[in-house]
Amino acid sequence: MAYNCVVLAKQVPDTKRITGQVMNDDGTVNRSALLAIFNPEDLNALELALQIKDKFGGQVTVISMGPPTAAAILRDSLFRGADDAILITDPRCAASDTLATSYILSCAVKKLDYDIVLCGRQAIDGDTAQVGPQLAEKLGITQITYVEELTELNGKTITLRRNIGNGWQQVKTTLPVLLTVISDANEPRVAAAKKMMKYKNALTPIEIEKKVKSENLQADEAEIKELITHKCSELKEKGLLIKHWDLNFIGADLSWCGRSGSPTQVHRIQSVVLAAKESKNIEPSDDGIADMVHELIEDKIIA
Ligand code: FAD
Repeated sequence: MAYNCVVLAKQVPDTKRITGQVMNDDGTVNRSALLAIFNPEDLNALELALQIKDKFGGQVTVISMGPPTAAAILRDSLFRGADDAILITDPRCAASDTLATSYILSCAVKKLDYDIVLCGRQAIDGDTAQVGPQLAEKLGITQITYVEELTELNGKTITLRRNIGNGWQQVKTTLPVLLTVISDANEPRVAAAKKMMKYKNALTPIEIEKKVKSENLQADEAEIKELITHKCSELKEKGLLIKHWDLNFIGADLSWCGRSGSPTQVHRIQSVVLAAKESKNIEPSDDGIADMVHELIEDKIIA
């Protein structure tokens, strides 16, 4: 039996590279100054979906909600083996908290034929780990969180191992199901050179519009429109069009989206600076290392 997998992937700022320069004066993150990356655990979710496809067949569709630049992680998904990519971008999504985000994503997923929905456990910027479980609830399907291994997939029955901190739990359920996947689940595959050659020209309609406008500075509005339509259908025919869905297309109730759909209120932002108070030079010798280990044991940092 083949399975249709839908992977939810978020483009996030590379929070490992936050330095003083990328913080605004009010303590918020200056996102434009940070490298944008594929949320790490979403790569594990994608890898699990690709492994299911490799073994059983079916389609892997990746959805990302974010600004137009999020197309980069969708192209990356295609390079790694995804079959289809959808970008949800709409100015009315701005200021969405997790409740609004999961509502918008649920409207998009409902438009697809799916057996397994896969999320990362957590995004490294928002860090709430709420979107996966909220999405499962809105889809009305079973959720299995903290997945570290797919043990068995047989017909409509799936068995998984989930990490419960100091051990693991084996869970069996029936499809459809939503999984949130942790980093221990697998080693995400790298982009395949052949697929990179094929999909490097895959674009969203927004990117096509930008490109057409920059290449045809003298053209009037009607000509630009025609060129965009032509380029979109050309890429669609070649399987190189990254779909763009807006809130109208997915039939979202606007009162559940953006600020009006977001009950979360930010009362205070605290900037935490982790700086070492002291440092110590260790001799690069057996004795130096032995002293350091002894000290770490005494300080109960290691056992
Ligand atoms: P988690 O719940 O930790 O993510 C779990 C998993 O869900 C991810 O691994 C991924 O698989 C999936 N997932 C999460 N988000 C997405 C997504 N966007 N697309 C696809 N899959 C996803 N953020 C903004 O970018 N712009 C804003 O204007 C904005 N305004 C906000 C206003 C408020 C009041 C609040 C509280 C938050 C705001 N945020 C905004 C942050 C936004 O709410 C979160 O980034 C978003 O809801 C996801 O939550 P998270 O990052 O904690 O994801």
